[in-house]
Amino acid sequence: MRPAAALEPRAGGATLFDLPHELKAFQERVRHVAQTEIAPHAAETDRTERYPWHCVEVLKREGFMGMTIPVEHGGRGASYLQAVILIEEMAKACSSTGRICVESNMGALGAIMKYGADAQKRLAAALVLAGDKPAILITEPDAGSAATEMTTRADHKGDRYILNGKKHWITGGGVSRLHLVFARMYRDGKEQGIAGFIVVRDPDSGAPKGLVIGKREPAMGVRGIPETEVLFEDLEVAEDMVVIPPQGVRKGFAGLMDAYNGQRVGAGTVALGIAESAYELALDYARKRRQFGRPIAEFQGLQWMLADMSIQLAAAQALIYKAAARAGEGFPDKREAAEAKIFASETAVRVTNDALQIHGAMGYSRNLALERKVRDARMFPIAGGTAQILRTQVAGAILGIRTPQARDGYLKLGAGE
Ligand code: FAD
Repeated sequence: MRPAAALEPRAGGATLFDLPHELKAFQERVRHVAQTEIAPHAAETDRTERYPWHCVEVLKREGFMGMTIPVEHGGRGASYLQAVILIEEMAKACSSTGRICVESNMGALGAIMKYGADAQKRLAAALVLAGDKPAILITEPDAGSAATEMTTRADHKGDRYILNGKKHWITGGGVSRLHLVFARMYRDGKEQGIAGFIVVRDPDSGAPKGLVIGKREPAMGVRGIPETEVLFEDLEVAEDMVVIPPQGVRKGFAGLMDAYNGQRVGAGTVALGIAESAYELALDYARKRRQFGRPIAEFQGLQWMLADMSIQLAAAQALIYKAAARAGEGFPDKREAAEAKIFASETAVRVTNDALQIHGAMGYSRNLALERKVRDARMFPIAGGTAQILRTQVAGAILGIRTPQARDGYLKLGAGE
């Protein structure tokens, strides 16, 4: 028989399946803030489609904006797992606020804090800690899943780059200050590869004038955050605002996309939080609603739905926590991030739908939160890498082959020559 000691929690208090004490305490604190100060505004944020600045103030006060920024830059040096716990609780209360927590701790911020020069890190940290949710600008009208086919170009001229092109579906367009723009870099008319370009926009004056916010998409869900077109019209970016990962600009896109693994785990966590809150509503309703002289929870058809919802949520949470916990000081692993996002986002679509079904007609009413949660969940198998593209990545890892996106990108950039 295995000695009992082998089953004891390891020093530090965490077993494989339990959060350490300090993270549990943090989770309790976030849950309280989320339920008392964020949740009461969620329906209004959805209805008005306005950016929830009042929620940002709460996040700022609690030190949740830029929590993952290292201590030397004024943040708390929080781990990905801690950020995931924050996002999960916030997303249960309000999906828009959950997404603000993702983008103020991962995504563009993660890329700059990892690959940026010191001055770039200081700039990014200061903006986020002051309440900014950075924007990451990759997708273009003709380059969605095939992101490496982007045509936005940055031409070197003197001590700067001149950007021209168009992005769309940019989260935070019009409200974000910090922008990380992915563009094809040219020097002496010769293409170098894809790099990140830091641009700071003043939402009040609209400066710099070469960065133009285009039309807003009338999105289905998570309506508190705008998704817009962003155009570059001879936008000047100083040379020292370029972000290039250590592998160099030619293979820079792959490095920048590593930073996106964090964003994917974060997006999966928002989906998880939305689904968990829908499940909790369904459980409560199934216990209270009576038909045929008994609570509907006594009908086996609904019991099996609830059981499946609970199992799927537990599995999604395990994949997310695993990807986040194993990130350590770096970014989550590409395959683990993809697996977590695929499963959590598809689970969220199923679970929110089933939760609505359990509510019968009341689920279909805009007076309850279910129809909003169904709409909110739907974005996650699409945004930040579709479930199909991420499956291709997982398959690539299993089979040891390059995914089509990477292969096309490398061919275009001439790598592997
Ligand atoms: P397409 O690439 O045109 O795909 C259409 C369909 O074809 C999809 O079902 C896709 O899975 C499938 N498909 C394509 N290629 C393959 C393949 N090789 N194998 C199998 N199936 C394939 N982008 C940003 O840069 N910044 C943002 O802040 C941002 N925020 C977003 C927020 C929201 C709410 C949404 C919906 C999108 C956001 N996006 C953002 C864009 C998002 O990342 C893209 O929508 C996504 O990468 C897919 O691109 P696409 O929409 O052009 O779809």
